[in-house]
Order: sequence, then C-alpha cells, then structure tokens
Amino acid sequence: MHKRAKPVPQSIDLAHASAIQEMMSTKHQKYRRTRLVQAGIGTDPAYSAVIPPLYLSSTFQIDGIDERGPYEYSRTRNPTRDLLADALTELEGGLGACVTSSGMSALTLLLHLLNPEDLILAPYDCYGRSFWLLRALAEKKHFRLKFVDQYSDEGLEEAFAEPPRMVLIETPSNPVLRIADIRKIADNAHESGALVVADNTFLSPMLQQPLALGADIVYHSTTKFLNGHSDIVGGAVIVKDQKLLDELNLWNNSLGTIGAPFDSYMTLRGLRTLELRIHRSQENAGKLANFLNTHKAVEKVYYPGLPSHPGYEIAKRQQEGFGAMLSFELKGGLEAVRCFTENLNVFALAQSLGGTESLINHPASMTHVSMGAQARAEAGVTDGLLRLSVGIEHIDDLTADLENALGRVA
Ligand SMILES: *Cc1c(COP(=O)(O)O)cnc(C)c1O
Repeated sequence: MHKRAKPVPQSIDLAHASAIQEMMSTKHQKYRRTRLVQAGIGTDPAYSAVIPPLYLSSTFQIDGIDERGPYEYSRTRNPTRDLLADALTELEGGLGACVTSSGMSALTLLLHLLNPEDLILAPYDCYGRSFWLLRALAEKKHFRLKFVDQYSDEGLEEAFAEPPRMVLIETPSNPVLRIADIRKIADNAHESGALVVADNTFLSPMLQQPLALGADIVYHSTTKFLNGHSDIVGGAVIVKDQKLLDELNLWNNSLGTIGAPFDSYMTLRGLRTLELRIHRSQENAGKLANFLNTHKAVEKVYYPGLPSHPGYEIAKRQQEGFGAMLSFELKGGLEAVRCFTENLNVFALAQSLGGTESLINHPASMTHVSMGAQARAEAGVTDGLLRLSVGIEHIDDLTADLENALGRVA
C-alpha cells in the first residue's frame, strides 16, 4: 500500500495555556467566578433558604387591584426563571436576558425581531437545526435569508454587498469549528445598523463574551455547557440594550417560548460548577486533539487550539480558551466510523454536547442530517467526520478508549 509521509504534527501551544491562566485570574474574572457560584444565594424572603427555592406555581395572588407585585402569571414572569436570567446576564456582561425552553426557541424568539423585507445573513455551516429553521422560515417569507461565508475577507465582502438587518454568527462553528472574527463582523454589520447575534453555545461565557466583542445579542442552548449535566433542554437570549430587552420579553411572553421553572432551577444548579467543568473538559480536549493529530488512522483534526487550525490566531485573540469541542476525520469514511464507534466504551454515541460525560457524534447521520447532503458537503461535514464533546473524566481513560477503537479501524 502507498504510504504517505506524515507532516510533522503541530501540537497545542503551551505558551497560550499559561496566557489562559493569566486571563482567568484577572480581577473581573475572579469577580465573575465568585458571583456565579453565589448566584441567587441568600435571596429567599420566606425562610432564608441558602439555595433559592423552586417556584413551580403558575399563578401568584395579587394584594389588590391597585397593589401589584412583580409576579402574577408564570408565563410572564417567574422568580426561579428570573434568578437564572440574572445569572446569565451577569456572565455574558449584558443588561438582561430571556430564558427560553430550548436553544431553538431562543433562535425562534429573536427571529421575531425581523420583518418580511429584512435580510438576515447566517453562516453556511451553522448548527443543522438552525439551518433548517432559517431556511424554512425564509421560504415562508418571514424574512429574507442569505447563507454566507464569514471566515474570509472575500466571503465577508460578498456577504455585505447588500446591507443586512441581522447577522448571525456561530463561532466556533458546529461541527468543524471554523472561527469567525466577531469584532470584524460587528464593525461591518453596524455600518448599516444591523443587529449582530452570536450563538455562544460552544464556548459558554466563561471562554467567550460576544457582547464585549461588539455583538448585540447572545443566545445559548443552555442544554449544553451552561446546564452541563445533560438533564434538561433549555435556552437563553442575552442583550445589552433596554429597548431590545423589552421587545424580546414581550415576544417571549406572547409566543410562550419561555423556559420552565424546573429547568431554570436545574440550570442555575449546573452553573455553579461551570468554571470547574469547562476548564477540566478543555484541558482534556487539548490533550485528545494532540493525541488524535498524530494517529495514523486519522485524516484530519479540527481544534482551534492547534496552531495549524486556520482560525487559531483569531481564537487566541477573542476567546479565553479553546474549548472542549473537537472534530476529526477518519481515513476510512463511513465504514471506519461504524467500526470505530462500535468499539468505544467510555465515549457514548449520542447527540448533544457540553455535559460532564464524554460524547461522540456522527454529524452526517445525526446532528446535521436535516441540512441535506448538498449543504453538508458545502459545510465540510463528510461521512467520515466525528465530533467529540469532551467531558471531565480522567484523561487516561479517554485516551485509552480512543486508542483502542482506532486500533480496530487501522
Ligand atoms: C444544540 C444547539 C442548538 C439548539 O439548542 P437546543 O437546546 O437543542 O434547542 C443551537 N446551537 C448550537 C450551536 C447547538 O449546539
């Protein structure tokens, strides 16, 4: 068999690892970390419970027609949901947040800011279900839509040929982790007064704060890193402008896209350990990226922390870490994917990401199936591509699991 010369592998920049350490110890970061652990603590007016209680009530008694408290009906406002909204607002450096029932309902909510004549720009390689929703609503004439390349200067120039009303950014993108320059896109978008919206699901506000980089709106699938335990589905939209917040709150109440109190309670609980979880997961991911990058059964590794990654320099500048998500392509295509995934014992083959447990996903047949084959090919989602959500397990067990399964393929 023909043997190709293997290029010298470039591994994770260790100097940057210490830069991350430095960033994480700034005064602002310290404050944020403590506030996160303490979110909502000491606020119970009834019994001074340390951990705030869960208010499941759908309705609240009013003292009198002329004496109204903050809460009347839980679709409109709920105390548990409000605590989560406050914590997310603080984490993202915003002014307020709407908590929603899923990441998709967060996107649904913010798309209601658009009129039929408005143009929205979205990345051609965004999350499969977001891609589907955008395309389907554009076909129904809810807005005008262009899928664009946000990763090159030529792509951006073409994208902004016609001034948009809204620009969606998803960075790092799902699943091949392309890096979009948030500040550059925001500068372009703001020239025509467009709103910049960033899906910050992949990194969480611990590692990237799009509002500080110029975005107007951040949204999340809180199902992922923010809740972090794969036991709820939820979402959130965070903004830094009061008028926008009022408009979104009105739509959230009217559409009924609101998050459930129980899910808010769980997410608030998960948030307290976000900093610990994401740093352990990220550390593991960096080590696995280096391991996979030198393995002979692996064609290519996508991880922004590898200096060979095209978005490495931007990631280093705009992120506070490289994250816990990585993708890689197996040499043997679909057959190799079958054999590899069947031989894993620690990584579970499952959708979703951002939990304490490590997961592996086959985008072409799972998360990105709704995109269709053509859009998948354009986005670089091949049949041999696998995406890892790296958890907080011991690194030796994760490496051994991959090594064993790769050995069966090669
Ligand atoms: C999961 C995900 C979504 C959708 O969120 P749900 O909570 O599943 O509705 C949106 N964007 C990204 C990047 C995701 O990973």
